[in-house]
Amino acid sequence: MGKALRTVNADLHCHSAFSDGTLEPETLAARAKANGVELWSLTDHDELAGQRRARDAAAALGLPYLTGTEISVSFAGTTVHVVGLGFDAEDGDLAAGLAATRGGREPRAREMSEALAKAGIRGAYEGALKFVGNPELISRTHFARFLVEAGHCRDTSEVFRKFLTEGKPGYVPHRWATLKDAVQWITAAKGMAVIAHPGRYKFTANEEYALFVEFKAHGGQAIEVVTGSHTPAEYVEYADKALEFDFAASRGSDFHSPDESHCDLGQLPPLPGKLTPVWELLAHRIQ
Ligand code: AMP
Ligand code: MN
Ligand code: MN
Ligand code: MN
Repeated sequence: MGKALRTVNADLHCHSAFSDGTLEPETLAARAKANGVELWSLTDHDELAGQRRARDAAAALGLPYLTGTEISVSFAGTTVHVVGLGFDAEDGDLAAGLAATRGGREPRAREMSEALAKAGIRGAYEGALKFVGNPELISRTHFARFLVEAGHCRDTSEVFRKFLTEGKPGYVPHRWATLKDAVQWITAAKGMAVIAHPGRYKFTANEEYALFVEFKAHGGQAIEVVTGSHTPAEYVEYADKALEFDFAASRGSDFHSPDESHCDLGQLPPLPGKLTPVWELLAHRIQ
């Protein structure tokens, strides 16, 4: 790469129909390439089923690729997402950990449907299933798409605001993987653990400090700084925190769907200066 590593157009966070995105891995790869992405990763929630197709499609396009996933974790009563990058996709313990994490989704979805029925919305489980690309990966996003289709809300953000977030009628608390397990599954598989969109959690300063310290103690090495989920002010805030905690920095759109995502693949600003990009540390894992 002839230019400064920091300015490589890396997009290391997005979703396919194997989780809650709407596009197939090949379509995403082509879209990334067309948008000028120079290093790509598909990071489906709790799932590796799309990895081979993503990697093969990227290879066919001459697009450098890192393996990826986004693990759902419960920490301090909140759901935190931990992205894994550059791991060995054949690792058995990682696969087993993700399978166990996915296993909670089906009973949770049935509970969500019962909760929504009490709020007057019938048939939500069956309705959400129509949008599901992977039977093991039914998510709130699929319920949101059903509620929009059924005319209960104008768009999926409104569904989350009115129905699917804490304190709202369709929200069901859930116990995901532990922070320690998620980080260790990734690092034991030779990958790097990255805290996804840290600005999105409603943590107090003390809780966020505890998250960063525990994450680091378990072997976590990076945080997302430039992501579709951060405001420009948060790019600066988390660039400072990456330096403070000596974390490498990642960059990714978190693209899910052309109809829903406000941030497309490869369209984010570069990482702020001074940061160590995760792709510098993962150079030997790029395929
Ligand atoms: P789940 O893993 O089933 O809890 O679903 C989490 C997913 O819901 C996230 O990965 C996002 O894709 C989506 N999501 C969460 N909050 C919102 C929101 N406020 N607006 C739109 N999508 C959201
Ligand atoms: Mn998602
Ligand atoms: Mn996330
Ligand atoms: Mn995501």
